[in-house]
Parts: sequence; structure tokens; C-alpha cells
Amino acid sequence: MWGIIATWRMAHEGILAAKELLVKERSAGDAVETAIKCVEDYPYYKSVGYGGLPNEEGVLEMDAAFMDGDTFAIGAVAGIVDIKNPISVARKLSKEKFNSFRVGAGATRYAQAEGFEQKEMLTERAKKIWEKRVEEVAKHQLDPYDGHDTVGVVALDELSSMAAGTSSSGLFMKKSGRVGDSPLSGSGFYVDSEIGGAAATGLGEDLMKGCLSYEIVRLMGSGYSPQDACDQAVYGFSEKLKKRYGKAGAFSLIAMNKEGQWGVATNVEFTFSVATKETEPTIFIAHPGENQTTVIEPITQEWLDAYEKRIKAPI
Ligand code: ASP
Repeated sequence: MWGIIATWRMAHEGILAAKELLVKERSAGDAVETAIKCVEDYPYYKSVGYGGLPNEEGVLEMDAAFMDGDTFAIGAVAGIVDIKNPISVARKLSKEKFNSFRVGAGATRYAQAEGFEQKEMLTERAKKIWEKRVEEVAKHQLDPYDGHDTVGVVALDELSSMAAGTSSSGLFMKKSGRVGDSPLSGSGFYVDSEIGGAAATGLGEDLMKGCLSYEIVRLMGSGYSPQDACDQAVYGFSEKLKKRYGKAGAFSLIAMNKEGQWGVATNVEFTFSVATKETEPTIFIAHPGENQTTVIEPITQEWLDAYEKRIKAPI
């Protein structure tokens, strides 16, 4: 069996590319890296890689992580700047015994020294969106942190190995040095090839409070299906957070187990893409349902058309 699942509609082209590898018995790690690179390279996705939105000071700081579900090896970068594919740097770091999570200048310098491609990652379009937001925030005292998403991927290959990865430019208008959940093991991602894996998108500050990716893997390990594990972890924690912290930010989790079964749960409208040996690559849309369940439907052409228009709309 092979399978791959990823957060948001933006991951779909990456899923198509990764599928081509998985059918040829390439590794789950290659599939995760390939899928995420596609998203990082596409200029119209404004929360990941090239074209991502910058921090408050206009600097595009990116976070990424990679985890090998066979060995538990993890590599991560946070606040890396002007490197074309942060996910590839994270994957390389996962092979290091020490110093495998690098932040800021240390992460960027490591990538440069290792010969990773350097690129000016802030596009003119992203800069314009940032300039507009700076003005709006000054004028109207808006909440500046709207507009963020992460590509999170979990893959299973024909040899039963699993891998997970994430990449994100984090919150738009974040403070310099702010790091979200995406590069944090257990929060943004987690995978154990003997159980399954999970990955997250949403408000990092809240996702970290629940270590939701780890929690989902733990639940799958104690017998829950991926869907039940996602429902239990996401809705359970969302409720707990509302009670104890006062509110819960938006968050959405995806999961796949070692059999290639998958699940998602979300407290907002959420799209994702999934492919397995038995199901063609498909984009779905999910909503929170009644009694801690998730309503999942195939995406409509109208939704896709409106999305395409929205991401390419003039600034
Ligand atoms: N989780 C990301 C962060 O907090 C953002 C997102 O996925 O929406 O950095």
C-alpha cells in the first residue's frame, strides 16, 4: 500500500507529483519533500516558500521540518531567509546527529554552506500585500495576523516506511523571530512508521498548547482509526482550550495510518488533498460536524474556480 495526504488545496499539484514517485516504489521521504517543494516553488501560494508573506518588518522568515517515521530522525529550520526550499534543508538536517534544528541566521548559514539554492523569496506581489496591510493596520487598528497556512504532508510508501514534513512562512505580520508550530515535533507534525503520522495547520500558538500531531499518533497507536483520532484530538482540545484559555484559534489536522487509511478534523472550513493506491488524488473540503465529527465532501468546481481567481486577483 502507499498513500499521501496534505493540508490545503495548495498541496494538490505536489500530491500529483509525489504520487508518481510512490507508484514507482520511491520512498515516503522523497514523496514528502517533492510534494512540499511544489508548494514552496509556486509564487501564488502566499503562506509557504516563494511568494510567502513577510513578517511585520517585511522580511520573509520561513519554518520547515522533516521527520523520518522509521528512525524518528527529525530536522527543522525556523526563521530561515532567502533559501529556495526550506523543506530540503530540514530533510538534510534530519540526517545530523546534533544541531538538527537550526533557527535564524544559523539556519540560513547552514543552508548556504551546504550549497542549497539561494533565492530572493519575497516577491513583488507579497511585498505589495505587506505594504497594503501595514497601511491598513495603522489606519484601522485591524488584527494584523490574518492570512496564514502551512503545507503539512504525511506519506506511506510501498515498503511501509512513513515520513512527514511541513513548510510555512507562519503568521503574516508576525514579530521578527516568531516561530509557529510547523517546525516543532509533536505540534506541527509527528510520524511513527509502526503506527501512522499527522500534521497540522492553523494558529501555531494554540496548536503548540495541545501537541496535537503527537496526540493523534498516540490515539492511532492505541487503536483509533485516523478519523476518530483526529476528531477526538481536535474537538476535544478545541473545547478544552475554550474553557481553560478563553478561546481557540483556527486549526486543522490531517492523519494517515500505516495501512494508508486517513482522517482529518478541523474547527474551520478546511481543504486537503489525498491519494492512495486505491483512490485517485482528490481534493476534499472539510467542516466541523455535529457531536465532534467532521463533514468531508469532494471539492466543487465552483469552489476551485473562485479559489484560482482569489489567489491571482490584482492587489
Ligand atoms: N501553523 C502556522 C503557524 O502558526 C500557520 C498556519 O498553518 O496557518 O506558523
